[in-house]
Amino acid sequence: MNPIRSCIVCRKKARKDELLRIVSCNELATLDREQNISLRGIYFCKDKKCLEKAKELLRKDKLVLKKHFNKESLIKIIDNIENELGE
Ligand SMILES: [Zn+2]
Repeated sequence: MNPIRSCIVCRKKARKDELLRIVSCNELATLDREQNISLRGIYFCKDKKCLEKAKELLRKDKLVLKKHFNKESLIKIIDNIENELGE
């Protein structure tokens, strides 16, 4: 069973396991690698374009999130993911 989720940046729908899942743990952004942390998550494509766009929107306070995330921690997580994805 793999539910469908959508990227919060481009709204593209994909299987949950094909997306990056980030949860807000006491407002600190945490990458949920195993996708099993029982907190509401947000999803991103594993795509630098979406990750860059997410950071840009975050800096402008234009990324709409249902749950509160500490902005700096979320940007930092995205930076880490981008580094892992490589060039
Ligand atoms: Zn996307």
